[in-house]
Amino acid sequence: MSQLLSVRDLKVHFPVGNRGTVHAVDGVDFTIPHGKTLGIVGESGSGKTTTALAIMRLAPITGGEIDLDGTPISRIQGEDLRRARTRFQMVFQDPFSSLNPRDRVGRIIRQPMDLLGLGEPSDRDTRVEELLQQVGLRPELKSLYPHQFSGGQRQRIGLARALATRPELIVFDEPVSALDVAVQAQVLNLIRRLQRESGLTYLFISHDLGVVRHICDEIAVMYLGQIVERAPAAQIFAAPRHPYTQALIAAAPSLAPEHRRRGGGARLQGDPPSPVNLPRGCRFASRCRLAIDECRQVMPKLRECSSGQVVACHLV
Ligand code: SF4
Repeated sequence: MSQLLSVRDLKVHFPVGNRGTVHAVDGVDFTIPHGKTLGIVGESGSGKTTTALAIMRLAPITGGEIDLDGTPISRIQGEDLRRARTRFQMVFQDPFSSLNPRDRVGRIIRQPMDLLGLGEPSDRDTRVEELLQQVGLRPELKSLYPHQFSGGQRQRIGLARALATRPELIVFDEPVSALDVAVQAQVLNLIRRLQRESGLTYLFISHDLGVVRHICDEIAVMYLGQIVERAPAAQIFAAPRHPYTQALIAAAPSLAPEHRRRGGGARLQGDPPSPVNLPRGCRFASRCRLAIDECRQVMPKLRECSSGQVVACHLV
């Protein structure tokens, strides 16, 4: 299957005064085939949101390549980048702050078309109405303000705004974490329906394993700026191999007990090391119940341990 998005050795490093450098994303590789969903999971500070922002060209890229179906989006600038932005859009975490409260919803959804000069200006209001219907809202609601909608409706508006440019890739950053559980299911079903109808490709960032299990074809687990395990979604829940993945699954309250059991007896303890003073060997070693001397000296590389499943651990 051909890849829509290819990310190779992506790095996002930030200097922090004279204290050193934060390695927020540190050599991340993945691909997403056309029409599929890759989920990235991990604790806060793992680098998953920074990875998403780098792909959107909203975080400075220190190294590596991002390719969107032949377009090197990590390298283009100016007008080339502006035109390419029609092809990748983002839905943000918080539907309460990601919509301008002073704008009517119709203007919010129309704005990307105006900014990027898409279609005839006279057709854009009709397109706004179509988009509202596509996300399950009545067209006449375009004259209301964001505060007149519920959280779930606001996230639908965020989706309509993302769809306005007819993108190929949508990056979701924790799109349902601010919503009630019942509303989460409705929004997730909508996201899946839109993918089926339009052949969209998704990158889905979440800390909630229960959510990614339902929506993703493949899952990458990040820890301290690196991917430590990547596998088809069903496989990662049936047979997690990295001790960190096992601990995340064991700790996930939204997973059924049989999935949590597959996480084994692993429990996450302590905090991750500082992203400024990174350990020489495995970055998980200070919290890993299986760590051996080699783990503290040598950083494990991602290796395939079974079909489609890659893991960075000396013991796998
Ligand atoms: Fe644990 Fe060692 Fe594997 Fe790192 S390499 S996850 S410390 S066993």
